[in-house]
Amino acid sequence: MNEPQPDPSEVDLTTPNIARMYDYFLGGAANFAVDRDAAEEFLRVYPGNLAWSRINRAFLGRAVTTLTEMGIDQFLDLGSGVPTVGNVHEIAHQHNPDARIAYVDIESVAVHHARHLIGDDPRVTVTQADLRQPHSVLNASGVAGLLDFTRPVAVLTVAILDIIDNADALGIMSTYRDACSPGSALVISNGAVLRMTAEEKAGIESVMAQTSTPHVHWRTRQEVAEIFSGYELMEPGIVPSAQWRPTEPISDDEALRSNGYAGVGILPR
Ligand code: SAM
Repeated sequence: MNEPQPDPSEVDLTTPNIARMYDYFLGGAANFAVDRDAAEEFLRVYPGNLAWSRINRAFLGRAVTTLTEMGIDQFLDLGSGVPTVGNVHEIAHQHNPDARIAYVDIESVAVHHARHLIGDDPRVTVTQADLRQPHSVLNASGVAGLLDFTRPVAVLTVAILDIIDNADALGIMSTYRDACSPGSALVISNGAVLRMTAEEKAGIESVMAQTSTPHVHWRTRQEVAEIFSGYELMEPGIVPSAQWRPTEPISDDEALRSNGYAGVGILPR
């Protein structure tokens, strides 16, 4: 297996990292032994996580498709991760070749792989930044220089608000909201305990405690709704991720295996 090759001084090889663990869950090769060991332990305590990862990515794809079809052509993907199947720019460009995508991630391997994949495409940027510092993100050249915030922008927070250390998601996300103009969108998926044993939940928290993002912020539907403050929710509202506009019918039972809530909101015009 080829190991990822970013600047070695920037990568902590002793601490498992969620970007690289998630890459492993999705079948990628941008991960190290420390990540694979933690990911295997994660799967041992919660075997449903492979399905969870695929359900999450599939929701992201449906949300981007929906928004692009609605005419949104600018995306700010916060905590974008290691490139994998169905990247935001690939999905958006299928529908609108002029769409602009600003990827933001804190992790060196994810950023390195994304930059390598994108090359010199003028429609896409990759910024290494901490989303908990929204002003720095919004002023970064890869964001401010690419996206026009006087027009609608879709802000994507997919499988990220539940792992950021700072629990002040409301304050952070209100800054992004205030930077956006009417017609802009917010996409959220966030881990939730829907169909999970207490043992599985404790096991996940124990594995995550060893990683560089040691806290898990599970959220109820109401708590996710609070992050959407100021937005109008698109149908079907905040639902288990697999149930957000599925391409084929799924049972309520299957939906609960999402173990996460998802939704898309639009800033009223
Ligand atoms: N959004 C992608 C998806 O759903 O497929 C990736 C989700 S992955 C579980 C979480 C990502 O958030 C990782 O790539 C991680 O490096 C990134 N991340 C974690 N903390 C961050 C922070 N404070 N600022 C920016 N990115 C962060």
